[in-house]
Formats: sequence, structure tokens, C-alpha cells
Amino acid sequence: MENIKEILYKFKENNCEDIEKKLNLHIHTTCSDGSLSPVEAVNFAKENGYAYFSITDHNNFEAYKEIDYKNIDGLITGIEFDCWYKGVFIHLLCYGINPFAPEMQQFLAKSKAETKTDIVRIFAKRDVEKIINTVHSLGGIAVLAHPCCCFCLSLNHFFKIMKEAKLDGIEVFYPYKRHRAIFRFHLSENVFKYAQKYDFLLTAGTDKH
Ligand SMILES: [Zn+2]
Ligand SMILES: [Zn+2]
Repeated sequence: MENIKEILYKFKENNCEDIEKKLNLHIHTTCSDGSLSPVEAVNFAKENGYAYFSITDHNNFEAYKEIDYKNIDGLITGIEFDCWYKGVFIHLLCYGINPFAPEMQQFLAKSKAETKTDIVRIFAKRDVEKIINTVHSLGGIAVLAHPCCCFCLSLNHFFKIMKEAKLDGIEVFYPYKRHRAIFRFHLSENVFKYAQKYDFLLTAGTDKH
């Protein structure tokens, strides 16, 4: 597998052409609250012709036990953590790490409810900076998921402090309409603008459930 940073730089250099067709770095399975089994998720990605994709279940890597993840073309390992950062509830996507690294165990769900149930997940007590540092030490990257769902007053300021926390990227391309049916805080144009301003890597994902 190529280095994920290099893959994302390539998309950025090409002005993100086709990024939404080629990249889907946000797919859930039955190992969290998704509808597809891990094997079906891999098939879903192949049928859609993504060059790169990731299975990112909430707070767990269980899906990676059910697939031969090292030998699947285009698969980038991933996870989506529930966390609070400076009073803002966020979903933090982490990519490109060994899903069975002992260093990651401390951040994983301790119960089934922590992988599925919103009301349980919102009480998460993960240390964002510790996750990011651990992920970096394992050669991976951390990305802020669906940023318009963040209950922060200023996206500009929030991206700035996330940059200081060493966040690598922003999920800029995602189905805003679907998410914004519930959350209507920030303008999608600002996500792209501020992601560029703070020189984040840009990612795409459908948050398939
Ligand atoms: Zn999410
Ligand atoms: Zn998700």
C-alpha cells in the first residue's frame, strides 16, 4: 500500500479532480451501525470503482478481523472515534495504521453500545491529542469527519486549534445535505476555504451506513 499522505497530496495537487468518485474513506459495517458486513463493504467499494476506500467503524477495528485487509486493493485501514475537543463533540477519522497495534487498544470501545448507540457514544472520554500522537507514531493520519456537524461557533478558529493539535486532514467532500438535515451550522464553502487556509489534507467519504 502506498503512503496515504502521498495519495492525498496527489488529489490535492490535481485540484481534487474526481476525488468523490475515486475516494471513499468513510464506510461503516455491521461492526458498528452500518448495514453491510465487512465483506459486503469491500464488495460495495469494488462495485463503485473507488481507487481507495476505508472501513471506518465507530470506535472499533473488528471488521478487519473478518477480511484479508492486507491483500485488498485500495483498502486503507481506518476507524472513526467519538471524542470531545475543547468543548466540541467531534468524529475523528484515523487512517493507515495497523488495526491490531497494541498502542490503539486503549482508545477502543469497551462495549457494543460504544460502537452503535449515539447516546452512549456522546459521553466518550478520549484524549484527542493522545490519539493523534499515537496514530502519528504508528505512521497514520487523523482527519476531522463531516466538519459542518461540529457545534463550534467559528469553523475558522476550530480548524486553527485542530491544526495546532496536529490534525492532518479534513473530510471536505461528503454528503452535506444528508448531514445538514439535522445540523445546520456552517457553510460547506467555508470547509474547503479554511481547510486550504490551514493547509490540511482533503479527504472524501460518503459515511455509508
Ligand atoms: Zn461520523
Ligand atoms: Zn461515520
